[in-house]
Amino acid sequence: MSASWHCCACSHRPALSEQALSPGLPARECAECNGHWVCLDDHRRWVESGAPQAEPAELVEHWLPDLASPARACPQCDRIMERLRTGRQPDVRIDRCVHCHAVWLDGGEWAALQFHEARLDEVLSDMWQRQLREAEQLERREDLVRQRHGDACIDEVLRIQAWLQQQAEPGVVLNLIRNGW
Ligand SMILES: [Zn+2]
Ligand SMILES: [Zn+2]
Repeated sequence: MSASWHCCACSHRPALSEQALSPGLPARECAECNGHWVCLDDHRRWVESGAPQAEPAELVEHWLPDLASPARACPQCDRIMERLRTGRQPDVRIDRCVHCHAVWLDGGEWAALQFHEARLDEVLSDMWQRQLREAEQLERREDLVRQRHGDACIDEVLRIQAWLQQQAEPGVVLNLIRNGW
């Protein structure tokens, strides 16, 4: 174990101990907050080895992520980690250290990801993160048009859009709506 390891950032700042996150997946654990630091290369090897997925934990049912927690420093290099959304409900947000190629999972997050069959490497991938950002932008645009035109109007737009897609010639039908005949 490297002497440069930092303590967990939780209240009593205990040292991290080596503790497998799942059988065959090494990690470092804070016994106090039940958080885990996981090297993404170890995770990749664990996935590639076909290690069995952990059974869904009952605690996931009532577990809620702590969305208000401040940005966290990486326990290995002390740099501030980036926090990435996973797009999974509950809203699991994962702290990643790009420098160490590792993540910090708050207590309960690993179980929640396992429960929802969300693979860590997939939800952290550039493609997944880009899709999440695009979905967020789309939501924001919908919020704006709803503010401007009202929910009743936008709901009707969505209904007509869905109806148009069911038509054999949606382009022709749309022209009829716009220009008549
Ligand atoms: Zn801790
Ligand atoms: Zn780091």
